[in-house]
Amino acid sequence: MITELISVGTEILLGNIVNTNSAYLSEKCAQLGLGLYYQTVVGDNPERMKQVIRTALDRSDVIILTGGLGPTEDDLTKEITAEVMGFELVEDLHSRELMEEYLKQYEKNNPQRRITKNNYKQAMVPKGCIVLDNHNGTAPGLIMEKKGKTAILLPGPPNEMKPMFEEAVFPYLRKKQPEIIYSQMVKISGIGESQVAEEIQDLIEKQTNPTIAPYAKTGEVHLRVTAKAEDEKKCRKLIKPVVKELKKRFGRNVFATEESKTLEEAVVDLLKENEMTLSLAESCTGGAVASRIVGVSGASEVLMCGFVTYTNRAKRKCLGVKKSTLHTEGAVSVKCAREMAKGGCKAAKTDVCLSVTGLAGPGGGTEEIPVGTVFMGCCCNGKTVVKEFHFTGNRSRIREQAAAQALTLIRDCVLDQTEENNR
Ligand code: ATP
Repeated sequence: MITELISVGTEILLGNIVNTNSAYLSEKCAQLGLGLYYQTVVGDNPERMKQVIRTALDRSDVIILTGGLGPTEDDLTKEITAEVMGFELVEDLHSRELMEEYLKQYEKNNPQRRITKNNYKQAMVPKGCIVLDNHNGTAPGLIMEKKGKTAILLPGPPNEMKPMFEEAVFPYLRKKQPEIIYSQMVKISGIGESQVAEEIQDLIEKQTNPTIAPYAKTGEVHLRVTAKAEDEKKCRKLIKPVVKELKKRFGRNVFATEESKTLEEAVVDLLKENEMTLSLAESCTGGAVASRIVGVSGASEVLMCGFVTYTNRAKRKCLGVKKSTLHTEGAVSVKCAREMAKGGCKAAKTDVCLSVTGLAGPGGGTEEIPVGTVFMGCCCNGKTVVKEFHFTGNRSRIREQAAAQALTLIRDCVLDQTEENNR
């Protein structure tokens, strides 16, 4: 069933308000398994509204309009849609009663405000349509059905639109479209987007139901596996073998199969499982790795300490980096990253310490050490690994990518160690 969204309101076109209704409804349509190919924003202009509604009814089965249901002159959504679809407007007694009750209560709570007659315009509804009660405002929602086409009209304010959608429109659409869409996420880190795409090309080429959609995030690739079936149980059954295959192909690079689980959560969980403590020795990321770890509830069980050692002096004082290392190799070097990680473990008395030292730019780059060069060290129970990265982008992008890779490196080193212990 093809669905289309139309947001009515000049203030959206002018950028005075953000079209959050559209984002909310798109998500709901996806959940319902509805095909959504177009979204339009149109101002409160009768001619342009007519044109947009006609076009939408022409190419879609269901159109959902929000806004323009209020009492004022420029609230015309209902009048224009009724005209385009050929409905006459009549007064709906039930809506009138509800409105009178709501307005009486409103007057009581706001004695300084006067209720104007034009409010009752909202009780006029297209003859034969389904009227949806508005428990949070005055304008009722409307469902108009004609010649196999449906127009659903909802109030603009999100606090009125959302409950009305949940209560009445969602079940209405569910009945119309019995199949649902259900997805599961497979989250990968430590491999680039193009490599992931290449490794699943055969699966993508032959996919029908479920489908796999890759999304790139900083330092991560997410694969959304989506199935269409009558219910969640059937969807899960279709998804299960695909997720299993993805896990087989990407092995330990898969850090989560739940939508809500973040990379930092996976790191914290892994450290907890292995009863390991963590410290951080950050230079160019300036605490960004610590900030991501601290964002996980329960991080205090694993994170003991974070050093932001920006100057050479701080690297020496807090982490015991050798003066000679800084002098001969410089702060952005393999040796410095190694000593920072080792020194962090020692100073904070932790099992693991991750160090980051690099050049986030924009200034300071040389031919040997260009902007974007970042060294990371991870000392895990005395064994230290150092990696070199070359990130691109501006200062904040480089720091963001470094923080994501730092989390991946912690995870890799802890997994290496646990695998070694299990051998
Ligand atoms: P009212 O009875 O309040 O006039 P209405 O159904 O006529 O409601 P509009 O007048 O179009 O709706 O919008 C009222 C308010 O609702 C806007 O000022 C805005 O705050 C919010 N709103 C409208 N459309 C959207 C949208 N697409 N996304 C987010 N908020 C919206």
